[in-house]
Amino acid sequence: MKKKEIYNGIVESVEFPNKGRVIVEGEEKPVLVKNVLKDQEVEFRVLKMRKGKAEGRLLQVTKNSPIEIEPQCQHFNSCGGCSYQNLPYEEQLKLKESQVKELLDPVIRGEYLFEGIKGSPREREYRNKMEFSFGDEIKDGPLSLGMHKRGSFHDIVNVDACQIVDEDFRKILTATREYFTEEKVPFYHRMKHTGYLRHLLVRKGIKTGDILVDLITTSQINRQEDAWKEVLLSLELKGNLVGVLHTINDSVADVVKDEGTTILQGQDYFYEELLGLNFKITPFSFFQTNSLGAEVLYDVTREYIGDTQGKVIFDLYSGTGTIAQILSPVAEKVVGVEIVEEAVEAAKENGVLNKLTNCDFWAGDVLKVIDELEDKPDLIILDPPRDGIHPKAIGKIINFGVDKMVYVSCKPTSLARDLVALQAGGYQVEKVQCVDMFPGTVHVETVCLMSKVSE
Ligand code: SAH
Repeated sequence: MKKKEIYNGIVESVEFPNKGRVIVEGEEKPVLVKNVLKDQEVEFRVLKMRKGKAEGRLLQVTKNSPIEIEPQCQHFNSCGGCSYQNLPYEEQLKLKESQVKELLDPVIRGEYLFEGIKGSPREREYRNKMEFSFGDEIKDGPLSLGMHKRGSFHDIVNVDACQIVDEDFRKILTATREYFTEEKVPFYHRMKHTGYLRHLLVRKGIKTGDILVDLITTSQINRQEDAWKEVLLSLELKGNLVGVLHTINDSVADVVKDEGTTILQGQDYFYEELLGLNFKITPFSFFQTNSLGAEVLYDVTREYIGDTQGKVIFDLYSGTGTIAQILSPVAEKVVGVEIVEEAVEAAKENGVLNKLTNCDFWAGDVLKVIDELEDKPDLIILDPPRDGIHPKAIGKIINFGVDKMVYVSCKPTSLARDLVALQAGGYQVEKVQCVDMFPGTVHVETVCLMSKVSE
């Protein structure tokens, strides 16, 4: 096989998150190609050859897969947000379930119960948060507001008909783009570092209907955004617009960052409800993006940790304290640790709001803070970010010697890696349940119960 040459092959399987293994006649090893489905016949160009392993870029699908359907979103072929809008939901679930099992089986020692996957209560319009980017779809083209184009760092495609958010998101998105197009306001150019419009953050409580909108710009143009706010206020929305904000971010990194926020209308927070508890959410604090899916995830977490009566529980990587608060009514005490201070403040406020008096929240890096905690845990919940748990933190977590831990993972490759260390430290995996919080996309959550092996 040669670099830059074009080949044809059949997709044998798709590994997590989105890596197709393509079999080419006469070649021993499969070639990795993204954005394909099992049993498709594809044409691709070889991009890389490393240690006999080839990686290719899809040029075209020459024969569809028998399980493939018409994409459920008109933006599917250009937008980089979703990967599986062309698979029926049942097939998406089967795929994610087998991907997780394929990653975990080789690392888990001994017998364990694999409980399959639970689907999201909503297959469409499930997200409570979206961060849209301003840019253009073609160089010097008209202003666009949406998602990164598939496989592109620079181009932004409009996603006016995005299917993973509801009608209110779509109306706010379209009205905002039309307003700034008419005003001829430039977007912030990621390479040149010039311009103004960066992101549009929209968050909506799926249960409460509260909507919070935040426009993120540089300070390169001195504008008052009251006229934009009026445009939003004039929209006919199903939910209630509780706050319209304008945040300045002059940093060069392409992430939403807060360097000062002005409230143009209403308030700078909103509420969402989960499993009967209320949560106050601020613009930039972490909150599971699929509220109904989060209820399924937290239900599994609660069931897996089991009897909490009289127990002290550590909720490590606690975000706005959702898991801690769901477990606290029965437990003796719950201690949450979270690195984002704003989220910790929100967690404390939420504890008060929910009249919970046995939750403690600490701000800081799990790696450091767990040395300083006075309480000794009986049970531990781990819900780290995508990169998983710092290897040194795993050692400290093992040293607490608790009987049971539940690891909630948003990236099964990180979970597989961390399980190796946790098993070496004396834990065994009892059972695993996948939960799909992200229909249409490659992502999947995995909950894993571990128990201490008796000596
Ligand atoms: N359990 C929460 C949040 C899980 S997301 C929920 O279900 O809503 C992971 C969280 O870990 C994020 O809030 C992130 O800010 C936090 N985090 C990332 N690195 C961390 C670290 N080193 N120490 C503590 N918290 C961290």
